[in-house]
Amino acid sequence: MPVDGGGRALEDALMPDVNSLLIATAISGLCLSFTVLLFWQVNRGSGFLVTWAVAVVALVGHVAAFWFYAQTLSPVLGTVACALLPVGAIGLYAASRQFLDNLSPVPTILWLAVPYLVLVPPVFALGYDGVALVIQNFLTAVMFVLTAWTYFGRRSEALFSLGALAGLYFLVGLSFALCGTVLLVEGQWRIGSPPSNWAEDINVVISVLGMTGIGALTLLLDQSRLAGTFQRAAMIDTMTGLLNRRALQAAHSGPFGPRKAVVLFDLDHFKQVNDLYGHATGDEVLRGFAQAFQANARNIDYAVRLGGEEFVMVTDGVSPEQARKIAERVAAAFAEITFVSARGETFQCTVSAGIAFGDDALPNLEDVMARADRALYVAKRDGRNRIETGEWRLVG
Ligand code: GH3
Ligand code: MG
Ligand code: MG
Repeated sequence: MPVDGGGRALEDALMPDVNSLLIATAISGLCLSFTVLLFWQVNRGSGFLVTWAVAVVALVGHVAAFWFYAQTLSPVLGTVACALLPVGAIGLYAASRQFLDNLSPVPTILWLAVPYLVLVPPVFALGYDGVALVIQNFLTAVMFVLTAWTYFGRRSEALFSLGALAGLYFLVGLSFALCGTVLLVEGQWRIGSPPSNWAEDINVVISVLGMTGIGALTLLLDQSRLAGTFQRAAMIDTMTGLLNRRALQAAHSGPFGPRKAVVLFDLDHFKQVNDLYGHATGDEVLRGFAQAFQANARNIDYAVRLGGEEFVMVTDGVSPEQARKIAERVAAAFAEITFVSARGETFQCTVSAGIAFGDDALPNLEDVMARADRALYVAKRDGRNRIETGEWRLVG
């Protein structure tokens, strides 16, 4: 009927045909791979980007071989296409493990890809293309789902991007499992041409959309990890490895209650250390104090180098006695260190400290620091190598 014929023609014109989608997949895959390599070029630390890009090139190779196979029905091209798809998927899985645990991708790729390449493409070449395609699809599905699981396992690092990435990998994996299932149910062990069914159509659409999203999210993830690295580096004092003033201000912008304290440390006669033994030895002393500080503060305490020879600890959930005990431990450990100058002289150093607490009026960090500074001044005035506690209301 003319009306039906017209409807079919319109439908055909509107439906994207699988061939165009395959070409679009190949081109967008190559562009993605190239973009990802450019990102790696800027940040060579992200080795997983290279594994990812190479894996995507294998997938693009699969698409190209499959497209030519569809045109020529050459068994050689079909065998190559059958070989490349799971290898690309295995590469993506190896990249995910490299991203999370910095594991080398080589053993994963070798252990999984070599047995597959030895066993399955020859089955295709021997004419049992249906059998080979079922295995190809299921292995690819398993690799995508494993990749999804790997990223999902680390979702605490970046909930949105890792969750979305895992979702897309899972979806693409599912579409390959569908292709395998349809072939299995139809029981076509020898097809002689590319399989054509609804699952294949869905798979092509999901793969194009999925891989584009996966590429974008992979780059987003890499960039946010890089930004996190810079952010952390900006919070660290490079000489001692302690946190710096910026970190202190970022972490303690809230009010100080009666059980939250600041302990301000200032090395005694440090200028003399520099003058007598040299600046380099002075630096050693600063690092020595930082070690004593870190080793004796609790894990939850904030150990900060404010600048010069001044350090601060912010400690929460402690009584005045506990705060003093921690400060005493730090000071005693520092006083025990014997330093050796460049000329071989040995010497020891001491530190003074001022402790101040917040209170019910909930002062801020600056206020409590100013109180601790006044206590420190008293410690210095009264002879150094001592710990003073600032004004606070003792209960009971
Ligand atoms: P006080 O007991 O009263 O604290 O005396 P002090 O000599 O320790 O105090 P002062 O503030 O006079 O001297 C601090 C010295 O710390 C002066 C400065 O040259 C030195 N200094 C600051 N930053 C560094 C650094 O990064 N490395 C070294 N080696 N010295 C530093
Ligand atoms: Mg000082
Ligand atoms: Mg000093």
